[in-house]
Amino acid sequence: MRICRYNDDCLGLVKGDQLIDVTIALERIPKLRWPRPPGDAMIENLDAIKLDIEANRKMGYVQGVNNVTLKSPVANPTKIIAAPANYMDHVDEAKDNVEINFGREIKTINEYGLFLKANSALVGAGEGITLGHTDRRNDHEIEIAIIIGKTAKNVAYDDALDIVAGYAIGLDNTVRGVEDRSLRKSLDSYAVLGPWMTTADEIDDPDDLDFSISVNGEVRQNSNTKYLIYNCRKLIEYASKFYTLYPGDILMTGTPQGVGPIEPGDRLVCKVDIIGQMEVEVR
Ligand code: MN
Repeated sequence: MRICRYNDDCLGLVKGDQLIDVTIALERIPKLRWPRPPGDAMIENLDAIKLDIEANRKMGYVQGVNNVTLKSPVANPTKIIAAPANYMDHVDEAKDNVEINFGREIKTINEYGLFLKANSALVGAGEGITLGHTDRRNDHEIEIAIIIGKTAKNVAYDDALDIVAGYAIGLDNTVRGVEDRSLRKSLDSYAVLGPWMTTADEIDDPDDLDFSISVNGEVRQNSNTKYLIYNCRKLIEYASKFYTLYPGDILMTGTPQGVGPIEPGDRLVCKVDIIGQMEVEVR
């Protein structure tokens, strides 16, 4: 099932190039008072919401998915976790390119571990990327994004995919420079998630997905998640040793070789097996 958030927080079921309004399924979410429990209420109630989507899909207004503004399918993650240096070919290009490494020694995820991107950086495909610090190099990084479905800590490797709600296409946009990653990768709109969430039942093996990104029609990155150094299960196992994971937490799994600069006016087209295609404008 492809579930999207669009326009003014409507909920949509995507079928091919059509979008069916299923906002009524959000009635499943219990009314919340302050303080809200951690996590995204839609993802936390996903099992019930999926049943209501099925029950109401024939009644919903239908329009073209290209007619709406797609927002991040997760509205309220408690954190955006990201994997640095998790494809060997990207590690190698970073070692060779001073515009990427800025004089730093480049290691792999084995030594870096993980980092966090600010939640305020999160946008959907239809909102686009607004570049900051345009005097510096700003790069695209396409990544497969895991959307956590359950509250979990110390998850075993073999059980890791059981806590996944779904998958989406992620962009871990980056200002190159000497500062810490959490600063350079957390500008507003530097975490794109979309175009929708493909529920976990549709993806048997997240560690064998072809994906690519093109900029103005030129393919820049083209790889497969089978080349991940820490695969999806290992990333979940590892992250959950440090953080309690909550429904809606986003785990960006890392980017392969081919990162490169983006400029205002660029048009990004991201493709991932099974999930589909995401188009993003750069301003
Ligand atoms: Mn990245």
